[in-house]
Amino acid sequence: MAKLRGPVCKYCRKYGIKLYLKGRKCESDKCPIDPRRGRTRIIRQKKTSEYGLQLREKNKVKVFYGVLERQFKRYFELAKKQKGVAGENLLQFLERRLDNVVYKAKWAVSRRMAKQMINHGAILVNGRKVDRPGYLVEIGDIIQVKPTSKYVKIAKEIVEESKDKMVPSWMKPDEENLKVEILRYPTREEVSIPVDEQLIVNLYSK
Ligand code: SF4
Repeated sequence: MAKLRGPVCKYCRKYGIKLYLKGRKCESDKCPIDPRRGRTRIIRQKKTSEYGLQLREKNKVKVFYGVLERQFKRYFELAKKQKGVAGENLLQFLERRLDNVVYKAKWAVSRRMAKQMINHGAILVNGRKVDRPGYLVEIGDIIQVKPTSKYVKIAKEIVEESKDKMVPSWMKPDEENLKVEILRYPTREEVSIPVDEQLIVNLYSK
């Protein structure tokens, strides 16, 4: 799956979950699958094969993190080589992506916006510009919105309006200076997308 085409809400309907692809609309009752709207229009799935289920889980995770097939496969290869459970390692790599960290730090309303900020050179890692959304953060990294960037004002507004949302405990936020420190790697329980990652492992292990 390359770039998402057309109205992105259709992906949430397809997978029956909120994938948070549209920023502020996703948090509001304007979201077409928000429970506050009552009956939601989820696309019913036809009975599908084991292979179909595996493919569906993989594509759902790719859409959620905004990752292309080639990158996704690369994360899986890394996950397999690393100690531990391959599926959990895969999700940990995806959570460690710089665009995900920028989104979780509440500086962007969506991962797509986070990607844009990174591509525009607005994010520093340990004081240096990193313009790769797929950069994997390490323990001890300090991630920051570049103080001279036009995104400072926007990020501060988003932090202010997201006061009720928590920054995950594997990151230590400094909201005043728009900085976070990576304290540890995220655990499986801290991955917010509902997914059966073993189906993805089985798909790639054929
Ligand atoms: Fe659309 Fe966001 Fe709701 Fe998904 S979560 S259906 S992208 S508004």
